[in-house]
Amino acid sequence: MIHIKRIECPEVLDFSNPDSEGSKELQEAIKHFEKDDRNFEFKAYKKGNVKEILETMFNYKCAYCESRISPVTYGDIEHFRPKKAYHSSNDEDLKYPGYYWLAMNWENLLLACDTCNRTYKKNQFPLLDDNNRKKRHDNDIIEDPKLIDPCDEDIDPQDYMYFTKEGIVKYIGEEGSKGDISIHVYGLYNPKLTENRKELAIDIEDKKTLILGYLKRISKLTKASNAEELKEVIESDVKDLEIVYNSLNRINLPTAPYLGMVNNLTADFFTEYGPIIEKLLSRFNQLTDNN
Ligand SMILES: [Zn+2]
Repeated sequence: MIHIKRIECPEVLDFSNPDSEGSKELQEAIKHFEKDDRNFEFKAYKKGNVKEILETMFNYKCAYCESRISPVTYGDIEHFRPKKAYHSSNDEDLKYPGYYWLAMNWENLLLACDTCNRTYKKNQFPLLDDNNRKKRHDNDIIEDPKLIDPCDEDIDPQDYMYFTKEGIVKYIGEEGSKGDISIHVYGLYNPKLTENRKELAIDIEDKKTLILGYLKRISKLTKASNAEELKEVIESDVKDLEIVYNSLNRINLPTAPYLGMVNNLTADFFTEYGPIIEKLLSRFNQLTDNN
């Protein structure tokens, strides 16, 4: 999981416009839930370009597990705080109503894959203190969720969890911490997902090993007494190094999956070797340009 910066609210959900679909539905919902705790069909969040804006914002990846959503599935518009009903865990009965006043609230919407949304999180919304739960639109309670909102400006999901070279996710802190509960509720430990991450992790480690091998060889060859004769071999090594280095950089692009793990496995490497490689490549490219 990584932090995602929320972009501007779509027009249909703009509460500053009393005639927007969002504003109108909010008023209808408030009225409805005064007398009935269910049986309301929320539609505003599905209108206009809400889904497209979420897809752009999340780079077509799940807010929780960071898997690529397209092209094989459609992905869901996910409500961080459940709109119809909630419970602290799947072992409890559902409680009605849910956070009906947030069903059309832009700040509550995320993009999630079917697995995270429908198999794992579903209606779960655990709080640190369940007695401190906001149950009506006009309560002035400030809740303390046990779940990480990837769009929360004040927290970085990477302070709560990390990934091993085997693609395994681990929480930071104590058992029952925000990281632990989020991993559990979002199903970030699920075996198929872990297998996907593992494949990428192996690829990353292989690329790092290759790069270090090239660096070592290039350094040795350039220091050799017959370096001039080895020019072509060195050039070829630098070219190969560049290919692997660029490919490792592409794994870090915002559109790439599992960036939380990628960051864990590459940040130190880039800090240590990035400047050396960049310098080497720029020197080499200058030389070849001049030839
Ligand atoms: Zn997911």
